[in-house]
Amino acid sequence: MEYNENDCCGNGCANCILNVKPKTIVKLNETGKTNVLTNYRYYCLLSKKKHIWDVSDILELHFKSKESENDCTLTLTPGDHVMMRVEFISKQQADETTEHKYHLRPYSPYWWDSLKLQFKILVNLTPQGYMSQYIERLQERDEVEFRGFSGLYEHRADCEGKTYQMIISQGIAIAPTLAIVEEILNNEEDMTRIVHVACFQHVRHIYFRKKLKDLNQYWNYKCFIYLSRQLCESNECKQMGHCLDGCLNFRKQLTYKENIFPYRLTVQSLKQIESKTMEKKNYNRIAVIAGGSEFQKFYKNILISEDLGFVKNNIYLL
Ligand SMILES: Cc1cc2nc3c(=O)[nH]c(=O)nc-3n(C[C@H](O)[C@H](O)[C@H](O)COP(=O)(O)OP(=O)(O)OC[C@H]3O[C@@H](n4cnc5c(N)ncnc54)[C@H](O)[C@@H]3O)c2cc1C
Repeated sequence: MEYNENDCCGNGCANCILNVKPKTIVKLNETGKTNVLTNYRYYCLLSKKKHIWDVSDILELHFKSKESENDCTLTLTPGDHVMMRVEFISKQQADETTEHKYHLRPYSPYWWDSLKLQFKILVNLTPQGYMSQYIERLQERDEVEFRGFSGLYEHRADCEGKTYQMIISQGIAIAPTLAIVEEILNNEEDMTRIVHVACFQHVRHIYFRKKLKDLNQYWNYKCFIYLSRQLCESNECKQMGHCLDGCLNFRKQLTYKENIFPYRLTVQSLKQIESKTMEKKNYNRIAVIAGGSEFQKFYKNILISEDLGFVKNNIYLL
């Protein structure tokens, strides 16, 4: 199925659905089963729960396709998104056809089970947002329409250990990058080195914190977390506009071996990360940047221009 203008959500996504060739169709032929995500279909909400117990606007939603597991698969590539569609108007035309109008919003699965036709998304409810209010009202067993769409990112396993992959994510956009990390780490033959730089606002809002800590045990994965708005009540920190590295109010919230810094990610921090993690100079450097379009543009420019050795064509925006 090709995409047309009605498939575009109008949010200015880095990889607009209209500009990207659908990869999922190829996968359909390989398995002989229909990929449920190639066009809009209904999914049942199996569960909806808070991601962090005391944060009410970050929800994990778990969906299952209504199609038969015998006839279908749910095929996604790490880094892909799904488009949620909600009808807001349908009216009868003079020629007796019906006109449908929809709200569309993309979300990024961080987990899926291809055989059981299930996926999970993490949603940050935005105040007054149309889809956020719709999601707030959703209850278990409600049905919602989704289809899949692919980005340009596709990982090639590296059995020789020549690839250095830097992933920079902003807030909720960590979701699709987790799927990318897990694909690499679950393949024992893949020697790609991953440096994951995750940006959040506060220590309370570090999503998937336990998972990130567990992943740090892999020899080829290192995670660094930067907090843009971590500020306590102490005068010294207030003067700086963020908690100081040694601030006890901040440090007591950390656990053993977490690389968390109470300030924004800067060029300087990226250079320090590079010197700590880059053992050889001749790596093939790949970068993935996931976040809002300003965030993506900003860090892409830094990676290209600040002597960090990344070239434009090896930087993927999710
Ligand atoms: C590729 C991609 C992947 C994404 N993945 C995820 C994901 O995994 N999880 C996730 O949570 N989000 C994700 N998003 C964002 C998501 O698609 C939605 O944009 C987000 O959920 C907000 O949608 P909404 O309909 O609730 O808000 P919208 O209605 O689109 O509103 C957005 C903002 O504008 C404000 N606003 C709306 N109307 C008005 C108005 N009339 N006047 C003033 N302000 C107004 C709202 O308060 C809100 O803050 C992704 C986006 C992209 C591009």
